[in-house]
Amino acid sequence: MQFSNLKTPCYICEEELLENNLKLLDYVQKESGAKIILALKGFAMWSTFPLVSKYLKGCTASGLHEATLAREEFCKFNPHAEVHTYSPAFKEEDIDEIAKISDHIVFNSPNQLFTYQERVKKINPNIEISLRINPEYSASPVDMYNPCGIYSRLGTTLANFDEEVLKYVDGLNFHALCEESVDSLEGVLEAFEEKFSKYFKGLKYINFGGGHHITKKGYDVEKLIRIIKEFKAKYGVEVYLEPGEAVGWQTGFLIATVLDVFKNGMSVAILDTSAEAHMPDTLAMPYRALVRGSGEAGEKKYTYRFGGNTCLAGDIMGDYSFDEPLKIGDKVIFEDQIHYTFVKNTTFNGIKLPSLAIYRKDGSLDVVKEFGYVDYRNKLS
Ligand SMILES: *Cc1c(COP(=O)(O)O)cnc(C)c1O
Repeated sequence: MQFSNLKTPCYICEEELLENNLKLLDYVQKESGAKIILALKGFAMWSTFPLVSKYLKGCTASGLHEATLAREEFCKFNPHAEVHTYSPAFKEEDIDEIAKISDHIVFNSPNQLFTYQERVKKINPNIEISLRINPEYSASPVDMYNPCGIYSRLGTTLANFDEEVLKYVDGLNFHALCEESVDSLEGVLEAFEEKFSKYFKGLKYINFGGGHHITKKGYDVEKLIRIIKEFKAKYGVEVYLEPGEAVGWQTGFLIATVLDVFKNGMSVAILDTSAEAHMPDTLAMPYRALVRGSGEAGEKKYTYRFGGNTCLAGDIMGDYSFDEPLKIGDKVIFEDQIHYTFVKNTTFNGIKLPSLAIYRKDGSLDVVKEFGYVDYRNKLS
């Protein structure tokens, strides 16, 4: 890949790596009989949807804007694609449009379901209705990403379940995992079945949510297939999975340029990107993004602290070492920056949003979107 003429910063999604993930997910679909839909929250690069829609059965959206994107940019390539829309709480001003463009609507509480079920059915008689369950079990290590933590607002617990909803629901959803193995799913299913299987009779489907790290090396794909098949056979329901991260996992990188290098106790390099604005999970999760060709601090001869080009003191990617000294103008590649990056990035401090590019299978680089001052201005007034 040649970057000499590329304007940075830029997220580059590698088509071949994305397709490899999609093929693995499709293998799970074909072997298990489950349907897999894309969670737009984690990956919404719609210029790849001609490819993604060849493999995945639709999208899961968390409100009107994501549902509209799914309907407009995904379904046009696959007319059978499904739009599933869930929100922690739907707003009255959005609900009619959501009903019109969604195939499934997932309510968070019995109260929301009772408030809107009749209205959405009137607008879209074919819409399928579901309730999100909180199975009160999760193996998620981080509270920020644990949908089943204490006082969680996400999903209905057994104590809050109202059997009256069974008159209206076609299915039930849960989403309890984050970057997890199939063993974690097994634990969640055990809790979910123990509490709720008495309500499965007559349901069309159960949606196992996202957080399945299916495309990560070492994930036990065969066990997942076995678990889904057993579940389907036991209860006679369809099964959906809705991963986001597993779709975009290790499918590309963020490339930036070194703007300045100096010493202040240690060597510091300033890049034309930002941890805060362009790689927010590195600060929120937090985790250290890998940089291509680098080692840990002190591991190689030249160590640098990488900082962003905003005025936030904590806008720091981490310390990285290299065999050769860095020069102004050098390109720096942060690995695996396609999921949960551009869907979350901001124009904080007026910093330019990174361009979006696709590295095609034929070796060409398509810069599909560039951003500028107008994007900053337009979200302010
Ligand atoms: C975030 C989310 C997903 C996708 O989760 P990943 O960890 O990206 O796989 C799926 N379903 C719901 C309801 C979510 O909130």
